[in-house]
Amino acid sequence: MPKEISFIVVVGSLMSGLGKGITSSSIGRILQGHGIKVVPIKFDGYLNVDCGTMNPFRHGEVFVLDDGTECDMDLGTYERFLNFDLKNENSMTGGKLFRHVIDKERKGGYLGYDVQIVPHLTNEIKKWVKKVGEDRDADVVLVEVGGTVGDLENGYFLEAMRQLALEEKVAFVQVTYVPTLDAVGEQKTKPTQHATRLLASLGIQPDVIVCRETEKLKAEARKKISMFCNVREEAIIDDADLATVYELPEQFEKQGLGKLLMDKLDLKSKGKDMAEWGKLVERIGKPRQELTIGITGKYTALKDSYVSIKEALVHAGAKLGCRATIKWIETTDIEDGKLKADDALAGCDGIIVPGGFGARGTEGKIECIRHARYHGLPYLGLCFGMQLAVVEYARNVCSLKDANSTEINEKTPHPVIDLLPEQKTVIDKGATMRLGGQDVEIKEGTIAHKIYGSVLVRERFRHRYEVNPDYIERIEAGGLVFSGRAPKSQIMQVMELPSHKFFMGTQFHPELSSRLERPHPLFVAFLEAAMKK
Ligand code: GLN
Repeated sequence: MPKEISFIVVVGSLMSGLGKGITSSSIGRILQGHGIKVVPIKFDGYLNVDCGTMNPFRHGEVFVLDDGTECDMDLGTYERFLNFDLKNENSMTGGKLFRHVIDKERKGGYLGYDVQIVPHLTNEIKKWVKKVGEDRDADVVLVEVGGTVGDLENGYFLEAMRQLALEEKVAFVQVTYVPTLDAVGEQKTKPTQHATRLLASLGIQPDVIVCRETEKLKAEARKKISMFCNVREEAIIDDADLATVYELPEQFEKQGLGKLLMDKLDLKSKGKDMAEWGKLVERIGKPRQELTIGITGKYTALKDSYVSIKEALVHAGAKLGCRATIKWIETTDIEDGKLKADDALAGCDGIIVPGGFGARGTEGKIECIRHARYHGLPYLGLCFGMQLAVVEYARNVCSLKDANSTEINEKTPHPVIDLLPEQKTVIDKGATMRLGGQDVEIKEGTIAHKIYGSVLVRERFRHRYEVNPDYIERIEAGGLVFSGRAPKSQIMQVMELPSHKFFMGTQFHPELSSRLERPHPLFVAFLEAAMKK
């Protein structure tokens, strides 16, 4: 008999930005803690097929899965909490769904019928969520519905979830916001009452209501929500502000959320515990050393653009017993002469130049890299940050005047960074970069080798440009070492400067595979160097 799969559907109400992804991930993590096999799906209503063409300034970081899927940053949260690799099927978008239905219609998949949102699209959704559960041999499929109740974009998806509950065991979790009015200091529940009513009008009654709030629910507010939203008091869960998001699973567990959901879905705890997780969370809260890490970028106005880097620093910090506070550095100000790199980096124990695209701010970044190299400041360059470190080295050490990446200046006399050969004929923008997990051969005896303790590793990529093979010899003759390469091609994937305390760059994004329970060794080594500064 096939295994019975049940479903938890997490729906947001009232407004976005309530941390629905973190709530869902925490629910997943507590169930895992009970030995229950969970697989997540994030639904996003937009008509983009994936996030690859979105501006991180508008939408937050583009996360990349091992299979090359460019997706919503919530998938990153799931991987960080649940500690296993997700796949394309775990990210469902309006674009993918409609494309699937339209392609199927053209092939005659609905021959004779007029194809409709209900039942054809909703059937495809139900099929999809069930299949993911089967493929992954899951006990529970955790479905997070992007957007908020009442949006046009996710209406058909909620309809599919309503229908799913007729066929399968489903628990609905509504995430809501309970504001406190400053003037009277009173928690207001009326917005939540209206939101639940809106959800009920779609045929969905929440089993659990998770309340985002600045302080824990007072008895009065809890009573009202219970009474008017038709949910038992013990199923109203607090989600007040926490020092670290990784505390949330324990906070939920303390309130009995795991048991509540397991009871609803007839699941039994297999009694695995979360002691290790708890220890790590404790270490985040009690660092022995405080550090300041500079991060450059043109998206510095929107911290969500670099969420994986922020989290990778937290993971490495938990391992080492330090806390890295980030100092965001707007490199356009350095480029425009409004700010000096020396001043911008004053007080920093290390600097990261993250991934990026386009010319704006790059000269400012290069100036920061020069400062780091010159002053022995630990440096970690991620993708674009590695490419720009090579540009800086070529210009200032290898005397290749005006060296550059052709992404920034097509007419540079020394194109030390250039388009990957296979990219030269690419026209489409969606999913056409060199994407996802690739092998990296690590050169024995290098710093990278010492850090990884291995000669072959797998890392995640997202780029179109590379170190120009024509310049490798010249740059290495100048002292920079390419310590990680693609196995069967000339692509340089790790760079290091042996004479420096820590000056490394990676063509890949190590931040994408760092997890609380598995911090990335490069981030650990970088912070270790920063601690010694
Ligand atoms: N723009 C660079 C490239 O396409 C770097 C990309 C990145 O940082 N992700 O190669």
